[in-house]
Amino acid sequence: MSGAYEALLAHARQTEALASAAGLLSWDQETMMPRGGAAQRAEAMAALEEVIHARRAAPEVGDWLAGLQAEALPPQARGQVRLIARAHAHATRVPARLAAELARTTSLAQGHWAEARAADDVAAFLPWLSRVLELRREEAAHLARPGQDAYDALLDLYEPGATGAGLEEMFAALRPRLVALRDRALGAAHQPARLRGHFPAEGQMRLARRLAEAFGYDWARGRIDLAVHPFSSGSGADVRITTRVDEADPFNCLYSTLHEVGHATYEQAVSPELALTPAGQGASMGVHESQSRLYENQLGRSAPFSAWLHGQMEAEFGPLGMDAEAFFGTVNRLEEGFIRTEADEVQYNLHVALRFGLEREMVRGKLAPSDLEEAWNSAFARDFGRRPPRPALGMLQDVHWSVGLFGYFPTYSLGNVYAGLLHRALRADLPGLDADLAEGRPAAALDWLREHLQRHGSLEEPAPLIARATGAAPQAAPDPGPLLDYLEAKFAAIYRL
Ligand code: ZN
Repeated sequence: MSGAYEALLAHARQTEALASAAGLLSWDQETMMPRGGAAQRAEAMAALEEVIHARRAAPEVGDWLAGLQAEALPPQARGQVRLIARAHAHATRVPARLAAELARTTSLAQGHWAEARAADDVAAFLPWLSRVLELRREEAAHLARPGQDAYDALLDLYEPGATGAGLEEMFAALRPRLVALRDRALGAAHQPARLRGHFPAEGQMRLARRLAEAFGYDWARGRIDLAVHPFSSGSGADVRITTRVDEADPFNCLYSTLHEVGHATYEQAVSPELALTPAGQGASMGVHESQSRLYENQLGRSAPFSAWLHGQMEAEFGPLGMDAEAFFGTVNRLEEGFIRTEADEVQYNLHVALRFGLEREMVRGKLAPSDLEEAWNSAFARDFGRRPPRPALGMLQDVHWSVGLFGYFPTYSLGNVYAGLLHRALRADLPGLDADLAEGRPAAALDWLREHLQRHGSLEEPAPLIARATGAAPQAAPDPGPLLDYLEAKFAAIYRL
């Protein structure tokens, strides 16, 4: 291989090392930083961000990339070059003035969103939403290829290769079957019980650690701390998770932990030879979410694993007042809620579909922020049969739009649909999986995911990666059939439909 590739990759490795330092600063900000450190930290992070941006935009990167165009590279190098070219294009097409203005405005808007949500005050949030939307539409205009839709240009940042048209098709297939299943479950004569009791924090954390271990989390390259909103961060040799504890609701802690362990073990499983390179992390937001949801739901909320968890919980907290079969219903119970992050497996993607439709119209200039509240409420009434009683339970519930994340929401549903495809494929290969899960040992499933998907990092784009892992042909819109089949079978059993 030519010297240009070696030079390009060496340069990119240093940039990735700086980005991993920036990631640690932001982990610290959410977990450990003293309150008084905020302003100083913001300055440190902004300075680091500027250096990283300048390195990605550097003219020599453009020269190396141009020099490599005519070269036949081996597949791994091709993957690295594709990722470096993407980051370079993004850094050079978006004017520095716009990038700085976006960073400043979104960090202010986030605070105003939090206040508006606490006060149920849509009017106070609208000027910020309008400004953030305007800036991101401007960014999309810089990023879009000739003829490319503005929404697709933003979506591509989170899910390379995905299109709004493909997602529209996916949600159109999801919606009717999810609505029908939800209505049948909520109308069923048999309803699973809620879990009641007091579950001390120390016991929850002990159990959370045991779950993380069962799901392959490597403590030598990770740690767990508390945060308001659980997240995982880092890659390679240092991947950290956070969780939260509610003493009335242990599932919050346990299943958030399992979810974050899914994200974190994906990062820990990426082949060490890719560490601190552009390909040394998960392939996309959607592929990442497929791992976290598979760990949390298809494996963690399965009948055999929940039976094992039932035993673990009784050992930790004493009798739960229900047997393992009833407990399986309890961990999967549907609620008539308004909040996406609290939604069960059946209704979750209906929440995301609603946001996708609205944000796509906003980015295309067809829905004004001032009309958003009414649009949200009537879409919610269409999909859920009732209107949110107040904006904090409606359009003000999620932080995403205040920080400019237009095009991000659909990656949650893509993750669920990918998880459906992967789950079907791994079940076909692992006939003994249920017996393992009943003993709290998902190791064979984790090995399958590591081998077929996780170790490749982001060398491949999401669609071909998922296709290869599941043995299917790549598709513009991933098939939601396996996810829907799985949900219908599972919830028919739980609700005795
Ligand atoms: Zn997630």
